[in-house]
Amino acid sequence: MAKVLIIGAGGVSQVVVHKCAQVQEVFSEIILASRTEEKCRKIASQLKRPIQTAQVDAENVPQLASLIRKHKPDMVINVALPYQDLTIMDACLETGVNYLDTANYEPKDEAKFCYKWQWDYNKKFADKGLMALLGSGFDPGVTNVYTAHALKHHFDEINELDIIDANAGNHGQPFATNFNPEINIREVSARGKYYENGKWIETDPLSVKKDYNFPEGIGPMKIYLMYHEELESLVKHIPTIKKARFWMTFSENYLNHLKVLENVGMTRIDPVMYNGHEIIPLQFLKALLPDPASLGPLTKGKTCIGCLIKGVKDGKEREYYIYNICDHEEAYREVQSQAISYTTGVPAMIGAKMMLTGKWSGKGVFNMEQMDPDPFMEDLNKYGLPWKEIFIKN
Ligand code: NDP
Repeated sequence: MAKVLIIGAGGVSQVVVHKCAQVQEVFSEIILASRTEEKCRKIASQLKRPIQTAQVDAENVPQLASLIRKHKPDMVINVALPYQDLTIMDACLETGVNYLDTANYEPKDEAKFCYKWQWDYNKKFADKGLMALLGSGFDPGVTNVYTAHALKHHFDEINELDIIDANAGNHGQPFATNFNPEINIREVSARGKYYENGKWIETDPLSVKKDYNFPEGIGPMKIYLMYHEELESLVKHIPTIKKARFWMTFSENYLNHLKVLENVGMTRIDPVMYNGHEIIPLQFLKALLPDPASLGPLTKGKTCIGCLIKGVKDGKEREYYIYNICDHEEAYREVQSQAISYTTGVPAMIGAKMMLTGKWSGKGVFNMEQMDPDPFMEDLNKYGLPWKEIFIKN
């Protein structure tokens, strides 16, 4: 029986709140707080059991601390934006509460995707006897746990890791992003980067691509190399990895729109003067694009996210693939969200459940692969994200 404070009321939050509400034996009390309380109330109105809502500016530590002191939650689940990670961590430290998020901290003026800022909080959390669990979504999140599971059960040593994220769904809109447009476009338009033999190698944005044949009827799709934050933690915690890459699918239509938007400067994150006001073009673009939540009822098809792993078992080379397939329409029927939010929100609930039930514990700041994968993998099957594994070369 535990009380959780969930911060943020967007697409991912919608799933986290629904899922926590379904597991009443663990999440006995839920408080949902965000910048716009109306959005919290809207999510609350969809549930079969009552939850409390509140307004908070998650960039304001005293406001957050007084909200935490008022409700005394056992932990905070941060599903606001990456910009708020550090202020929410500061408020957790001030009030003595455990912390979980799904995306690493980023300053607003620089899309950097690196764990340094949050890893620097390790001593502060450890000194207070508190735990912060970073990146408990799908990627990062489940992909880290898949890798830990592979290492624990199927490999003596992992040497190569390819994380491959496919969205084979279609929302029928000319251009839209499946999660927060600002965060999504910052990520996609950043330079690519992968890890090889102890070095990070940079590539031009989306310049490295290949075909990949996805299982269960999805078939071949083009995948593009990108940088993703879990590569940084995985090569740190599993040092036998010699090569680590992250790949994602994009439709030609999405890429063409993105190119035009980039070419005209609409994806810039630096301030531009317009009619005497400073505006950030990407934030303005976000205001024009469809709200990702509105794509829920429109999206059909499936996602397939998994890890392709090469390494050694009992002296022999092994190649192995572990993945989940999630159906957009099924996700919508269950929690009124498409599969991108679903695949992020379910692992956030499971990560919180691991912490609240003591299956995962520790003092300091942790990434998912540092924890025992077994109870988390069991819960993925139980709560809507079943996984399958294929031994390609044994
Ligand atoms: P949304 O934009 O849909 O939701 C973000 C929410 O945070 C909104 O409700 C917003 O409030 C709220 N918020 C923003 N600023 C503040 C603030 N200062 N104070 C309080 N609340 C604030 O984003 P998503 O739900 O799509 O994404 C949520 C998180 O999940 C992001 O960090 C994203 O990077 C991460 N993510 C992780 C994935 C993974 O697999 N690991 C995959 C997809 C997303 P308002 O409604 O007022 O704007």
